[in-house]
Amino acid sequence: MLDVQGYAALNARSPLEPFRFSRREVGRQDVLIHIHYCGICHSDVHQTRDEWGGSLFPMVPGHEIVGTVEKVGTSVKQFKAGQMVGVGCFVDSCRTCSACKKGLEQYCEGHIAFTYNSTERDGVTPTYGGYSTNVVVDQRYLVRIPKRMRPEEAAPLLCAGITTYSPLRHWRIGKKHRLAVVGLGGLGHMAVKIGHALGARVTVLSRSDKKRADAKRLGARDFHNTSTPETFAALAKQFDFILDTVSAPHDLNAYLDLLKTDGTMILVGAPEKPAALEAFPLILKRRRLAGSMIGGIKETQEMLDFCAKRKLGADIEVIPIQEVNKAYERVVRGDVRYRFVIDMSSLK
Ligand code: NAP
Ligand code: ZN
Ligand code: ZN
Repeated sequence: MLDVQGYAALNARSPLEPFRFSRREVGRQDVLIHIHYCGICHSDVHQTRDEWGGSLFPMVPGHEIVGTVEKVGTSVKQFKAGQMVGVGCFVDSCRTCSACKKGLEQYCEGHIAFTYNSTERDGVTPTYGGYSTNVVVDQRYLVRIPKRMRPEEAAPLLCAGITTYSPLRHWRIGKKHRLAVVGLGGLGHMAVKIGHALGARVTVLSRSDKKRADAKRLGARDFHNTSTPETFAALAKQFDFILDTVSAPHDLNAYLDLLKTDGTMILVGAPEKPAALEAFPLILKRRRLAGSMIGGIKETQEMLDFCAKRKLGADIEVIPIQEVNKAYERVVRGDVRYRFVIDMSSLK
């Protein structure tokens, strides 16, 4: 077994702290990665605090991982030592169901092994995430980081990037559409960049005026403060699509009223408590409410190549791992511009 240093939450109430653990030896299909950077996703906060229920402890979070290949197994042909690679939200899946066969591994009907807070395909061995020095991953679940990308700006694309790219592509959102992005955080700021790059007219809906200038800089045409009641009246029936990235409970019905007839609101944010849904905002205008989860491996590579071509990376604040608990508090307060990325060289 390989000895690895990381940071873990030992239970739902304790802050993250240094934690030593073991990973499997490099198998024939495996790649050993030396981790350079790992983004902090709000899902890390939800899960370390057991806000979704069923959390497994000790938990080493982190699913926005970028690092260099240190060693490859004998059957690995696509990756070689020294190459920059990425690992996102899952590290294995059943490989045989119809979803896996279609490259939609995130919707695997068998067992999906999430990068942390989950188990390997054996259903027993816990998985540990990217707040650590090294990770061993089957080559099928890795992506290449394009050469022209800065690795620290690429890390958040492995979750925030793909989670917003996938629904924008699935619903073919582009030039003909008005898209509202609700919440300007890690996911929201990537949704604005990618939505704009796809040609949509993007509006940001945020709780205050603080992020107005940033929204414009990121590519939004319009910005509205949702704490002002007039906003909802002024924007009624304006949007073809709404991408909701909000991490906390909020009134979905008010946002549904902002869709045109046949408009679609897509939830990607995953608040800990259920939302109250009224029928009328949906039935009066044949509106749709949908959801989307991350993206498959092939699509994640496509997203990275798309972002590299258009010079899109995340706006980041790089921190040493010793500041992770402070960073979590700032994420919860909505005080991040727009993703924290941990420099793993700080983990000694
Ligand atoms: P984040 O950086 O904290 O951004 C969330 C944004 O939501 C905040 O910046 C804030 O934007 C807004 N917000 C927060 N609390 C709010 C409240 N009480 N009312 C209204 N708006 C509020 O989080 P993230 O990393 O982008 O993740 C967002 C959510 O997506 C999380 O729930 C996460 O677990 C989930 N997620 C889902 C997937 C998926 O596959 N579906 C993947 C990754 C993450 P403003 O300051 O602009 O208002
Ligand atoms: Zn995430
Ligand atoms: Zn499957």
